[in-house]
Amino acid sequence: MKICDRCGKPIMRGEGYDTIVPDSMSGARPNTYVHQWDCMRPRAVFLPRVR
Ligand SMILES: [Zn+2]
Repeated sequence: MKICDRCGKPIMRGEGYDTIVPDSMSGARPNTYVHQWDCMRPRAVFLPRVR
């Protein structure tokens, strides 16, 4: 499972993510992954509409 490097939460299968390839000159670091969506913002919460 991949962990989002931005929000620290796991990236679920089927969720879009971006792969960040670090500078290869600065040492061997593994690629990091971040959510494609703006995961630093709270996800939209769908509240039941009360009329
Ligand atoms: Zn994230």
